[in-house]
Amino acid sequence: MSNLPAHASPALAPLYSPQASSPKRIDGLELTSSAHEADIQAGQNAVTTRALRHEPPPSIISPAFTPPATPGFSTPSHPRPPRSTPVDTSQSDSPFPNLVDTLPAVECDVRARIPTTTGHEMWLHVYRNNIDSKEHLAIVFGNNIRSRSLDSERPGETELDRMTRGAYVGRLYPGRTSSRVEQIKRVEGTTLRAKAKPDIREFEKSNGSIVTSASSASSTSSESGDVLTSNFALPLVRIHSECYTGETVWSARCDCGEQLDEAARLMADPHLSPSGGAIIYLRQEGRGIGLGEKLKAYNLQDLGNDTYEANIMLRHPADARSYGLATAMLMDLGLSGEKGIRLLTNNPDKVRAVEGPGREVVVKERVAMIPLAWKTGGKAGIRSEEVEKYLSTKIEKFKHMLSQT
Ligand SMILES: [Zn+2]
Repeated sequence: MSNLPAHASPALAPLYSPQASSPKRIDGLELTSSAHEADIQAGQNAVTTRALRHEPPPSIISPAFTPPATPGFSTPSHPRPPRSTPVDTSQSDSPFPNLVDTLPAVECDVRARIPTTTGHEMWLHVYRNNIDSKEHLAIVFGNNIRSRSLDSERPGETELDRMTRGAYVGRLYPGRTSSRVEQIKRVEGTTLRAKAKPDIREFEKSNGSIVTSASSASSTSSESGDVLTSNFALPLVRIHSECYTGETVWSARCDCGEQLDEAARLMADPHLSPSGGAIIYLRQEGRGIGLGEKLKAYNLQDLGNDTYEANIMLRHPADARSYGLATAMLMDLGLSGEKGIRLLTNNPDKVRAVEGPGREVVVKERVAMIPLAWKTGGKAGIRSEEVEKYLSTKIEKFKHMLSQT
């Protein structure tokens, strides 16, 4: 896996733009000196190598656009099982968080396959709901997690309609005419294989949707050779709130970009998350207060207040997010029920909140997210005065558990 910054998007500059050819190369062509020829050859080899690896050329990763501590830039590619703690909230006597009585209704509108700059693929799902007009997202890794509402039939739709909204099995290719042909082929294939190996996909003929019965009892060996417990095979889930400043414009005031990158790294790696995973990406900027208010809070912080105090001064609750949407989306993705999930969070209160009012989702394990800067002794991750203050406030005021023990 390459270590490109999260924002290394082809949108920043066209591939092979005229700027990419340097004056040095033009000189080389005129003078035909051997040194310059070697340079040209080396350049061409580099381009070919990048093309083979599907990497963007370096010209689009301009130093001017890349601050020294870009979140996720130094994400280690070394697969290492994440640290996790078993949880069982049914045994807990800690006070329940304020939960909504009824979960919102959600429907997956559309999904598409997104190849990423790390070389992995993810499935981006756009959801609609009955409590706000925002497009909340599910970023799904692996092929075992499918949306029920996306797969279900809609009245009067054609096969092209189904493929256009992403309700197909397998992959799209030019000229494909049916969302189901692949399904039927797969069913025939899996019925035969299912007799030998019962933990693969089953096909439910009644409504045409795919039902996944992933094995949750298998043991998997980690890189170090340790045999990990059965929970390791549970899907990994993260609830992530939109942070424009931390994820898009390189802010080092918080660690949101780094956390999003780390979640994707863990879920995309089949060694670390064999059942795949889902990031529920909620469009609630600045813990639900909006970008404008968040910027005011930053100014109050520069005046000497911490994150918590700044929010109180703006008359916002310290954390205005609600998790009902996340629970409903996880249920739609087939991640509810006793089988359980692993939740990627440092916030123990989030565990109970995500499970929902009737414990519709069961968190079997909490997987901690240690800031890269702490994990690597400052060699990687975000380094700024602001992020240190932000993390200290998280611990003191929001009772997050960032301890490495
Ligand atoms: Zn942030």
